[in-house]
Amino acid sequence: MTATVWVLGDQLLIDHPAMRSAEEQTGRDQIVVLFIESESRSRRHHYQAKKLVLLFSAMRHFSEKLRSKGYQVDYRISSSTSKAIQEHIEIYGPETIITMAASEYAGRQYQQTLQEEFKVPVRILPNTQFLVGSYNPIPEAEPGKHYVQETFYRKMRKHFDLMMEPDGKPSGGNWNYDKENRRRLPRDVHPVPPVSFETDEITRKVMEEVDQKFRAVGSVEGFDLAVTHSDAQLAAADFFDHRLADFGAYEDAMSSQFQTIYHSRLSPYLNLGLLKPLDLAMEAQKRYELGTAPINSAEGFVRQVVGWREFMYWQYWRLMPEIEASNFFLATRPLPDFFWDGKTDLSCLKHVITRGIQYGYAHHIERLMIVSNFCLSAGIAPEEVNAWFLSLFIDAYEWVMLPNVYGMGLFADGGQISTKPYIASANYINKMSDFCRSCQFNNKTRTDENSCPFNYLYWNFILENEEQLRKNPRMGRSLLGLRHLDEEERKKIRVRADWFLNQGMKT
Ligand code: FAD
Repeated sequence: MTATVWVLGDQLLIDHPAMRSAEEQTGRDQIVVLFIESESRSRRHHYQAKKLVLLFSAMRHFSEKLRSKGYQVDYRISSSTSKAIQEHIEIYGPETIITMAASEYAGRQYQQTLQEEFKVPVRILPNTQFLVGSYNPIPEAEPGKHYVQETFYRKMRKHFDLMMEPDGKPSGGNWNYDKENRRRLPRDVHPVPPVSFETDEITRKVMEEVDQKFRAVGSVEGFDLAVTHSDAQLAAADFFDHRLADFGAYEDAMSSQFQTIYHSRLSPYLNLGLLKPLDLAMEAQKRYELGTAPINSAEGFVRQVVGWREFMYWQYWRLMPEIEASNFFLATRPLPDFFWDGKTDLSCLKHVITRGIQYGYAHHIERLMIVSNFCLSAGIAPEEVNAWFLSLFIDAYEWVMLPNVYGMGLFADGGQISTKPYIASANYINKMSDFCRSCQFNNKTRTDENSCPFNYLYWNFILENEEQLRKNPRMGRSLLGLRHLDEEERKKIRVRADWFLNQGMKT
């Protein structure tokens, strides 16, 4: 019995279930491991250049590793996935194809067609890349019903015994230390940036190819990410040794000087299968137990990895494909051009976008409270925002992008994922960052000519959507603010917003 194991590019798991299953069934010498770099797939969007380098280099390194372990590998670079599979079958004639369910909807639908298309028996194994693959905290989820992340998260903590006391209570006495995750970065604090990795011959070749073949966002220059499992482990150790301790306190802080601050920058590796979520959560717990990380950091990190990340994947599969067409606030405006070059006078957006283009990274609060906040209050169409995020970031995959953009960022799903729209004025940005210090706009005023656009866009959004927002109990405080706006002030807000949306943001 000969078997093909098809390893998808974002499923580079050391203990890939299809490999294990095929080996048990046929023995290693009867297996061919298939990798496909599909050019049409990689051209579907203009992706971040560094993301393409990371993906292809990690795939090529993994395939070499498998070869060195005695596996036969067929690594195909082809114009399309179907063409690659067809050619592979013609050469190797497998009696069966085994693969793991794709993380993304379209990929999983395509897998369902394989047997019919290629006339070879195909086995699709359950996806083990996510913890919810082995444990579903809310198995009876009903369509249209609202499920909050906190409930999901607590069940995950209990089930995987993370940060739990023997008596079943959460470590430290509380489930969530969110309130201790909101400190501004002091001027004299200098976070250690993530470790850089040298490029080797494989990566340099990929960089050359990406540079020549793709119209990508940003540049391959300066690529310094890990592309192997062992280097990804080093990147994780670097985070745990140098940044976890302060991760909690400064989780929401933003800075014009430091991009990563105390964040991990581990999402690209998690999303490719180079790192496993449970390993990272257990390491954070260990650091807490050893006394090298305080509870607000360890719990904060565990919450992100086994709370938010898994919740988003779970919601993606619950809400697809409808979520893609959702547009609760009926936002239709196109994305302004400065999103593609960072040329704007708004200091916060300039910093976040420019660094995003260059490095393919922004941390969570920058993505949520700068970029999405702007897009929500400016009424940018969700599909435009989603496409931009998908193009820019090194960790961008549809399963994580859609729930974050349509759900958390824009509330386009009408509250299936978040309990309220995340919208804030310049006051929040100034409180959590130093961006306003170098900005030409005044963050304190609302309707002057040089008032920060975040201020009048915020109030304009509240005025425009008052009726919808009144139905949301968590929006109470923002709506209370409306009492202080008389008719004249409301008119001025509308005039400023109208000018900015129709002229200001285009110049
Ligand atoms: P850290 O702050 O160090 O957090 C640790 C880990 O927790 C991350 O590596 C990530 O795996 C996980 N995590 C935290 N929050 C989330 C979340 N909301 N959803 C999923 N995972 C989470 N994450 C992606 O991996 N890919 C994306 O394309 C992506 N797009 C986003 C778009 C928007 C509009 C928003 C609001 C968030 C998005 N996120 C995305 C989630 C989050 O912002 C990133 O995972 C995080 O910034 C990655 O940086 P980090 O590794 O330094 O994270």
